[in-house]
Amino acid sequence: VFTMTRSPSVGLFSSTDRNYSSSSNLIRATLFPGDGIGPEIAESVKQVFTAADVPIEWEEHYVGTEVDPRTQSFVTWESLESVRVNKVGLKGPMATPIGKGHRSLNLTLRKELNLYANVRPCYSLPGYKTRYDDVNLVTIRENTEGEYSGLEHQVVRGVVESLKIITRQASLRVAEYAFYYAKAHGRQRVSAVHKANIMQKTDGLFLKCCREVAEKYPEIKYEEVVIDNCCMMLVKNPTLFDVLVMPNLYGDIISDLCAGLIGGLGLTPSLNIGEGGIALAEAVHGSAPDIAGKNLANPTALLLSAVSMLHHLDLNEKADQIQDAVLKTIAEGKYRTGDLGGSSTTTEFTKAIIDHL
Ligand code: NAD
Repeated sequence: VFTMTRSPSVGLFSSTDRNYSSSSNLIRATLFPGDGIGPEIAESVKQVFTAADVPIEWEEHYVGTEVDPRTQSFVTWESLESVRVNKVGLKGPMATPIGKGHRSLNLTLRKELNLYANVRPCYSLPGYKTRYDDVNLVTIRENTEGEYSGLEHQVVRGVVESLKIITRQASLRVAEYAFYYAKAHGRQRVSAVHKANIMQKTDGLFLKCCREVAEKYPEIKYEEVVIDNCCMMLVKNPTLFDVLVMPNLYGDIISDLCAGLIGGLGLTPSLNIGEGGIALAEAVHGSAPDIAGKNLANPTALLLSAVSMLHHLDLNEKADQIQDAVLKTIAEGKYRTGDLGGSSTTTEFTKAIIDHL
């Protein structure tokens, strides 16, 4: 009853791609606890990993207190190097100060590490009732360009411009990943989400690239759906969708909508896929400043993200063990955090998961 479609795994690492600790045979993984609720839910992951005896050694990195001139953001060069060397990591949410004039932490990580695809699976959780029982879809978000290119300026007083950049290279790369993912996971269909009727050049190019890639995968059904219609269809009948691929901004919005279908942002994981075999797992949600520091956050999204990191490392047994314990705890219903209608603290919920391992 508790077996869900597996969290996303992508072409598995060969052992030479792993960075082993020099003093033990543990695999080194970078951990960014992040801001807001980040440290609380990262602590939960660390405790569950320790209890499950996962052979991972965390290399923790914190967001700097000053802008690092080498990255032009609070993300330090050393922390980027850590991910480049370890090739695998887990990231807590990072808050983005509005209008402060330096690069967003998340944008810095995505750009510098070339995290080109963000894979966001969304499944109905057994035993946790929402309007739908059978949501099972995956949003694949282009992660490096679109409206998130960070190119904004004032044209004249009272007029500002934000540029949406779509390139053939990035569109082909994410489309290729979406079809590869669909095939590898036995999924039937890829839907490209767009607004090419209005954004004729940018979304037009995105679609052209998706069509090109679709031709190489005749076994996967390909369709195109306009973003506004897609929102309506998702709310009305989410089972119409399987794998969805889309430009950056649409992916950001659609995946929150999808999270809402299954119980909220406390539940949805993601895995960022980068060039050169890098995989950085993170929850879909942000730093949740409204509940930060109160021991109220639901660590499920980050735990399931960590599970996808384990699948990526081919540590499937440990991944399944942790995923089952999380799902059993939620299904049982005795310990749930406030976002799921329960009254457990993050700590109590984490302890219940550990008891289910
Ligand atoms: P948010 O995702 O932080 O919060 C939205 C709502 O969901 C809040 O009510 C929050 O309490 C709730 N929520 C989110 N995660 C939860 C969890 N694990 N358990 C229980 N409830 C949870 O979105 P926001 O408030 O718009 O953004 C806050 C900050 O996070 C902003 O600075 C934003 O830029 C940043 N952000 C970062 C990331 C990231 O690091 N990937 C993603 C989204 C937003």
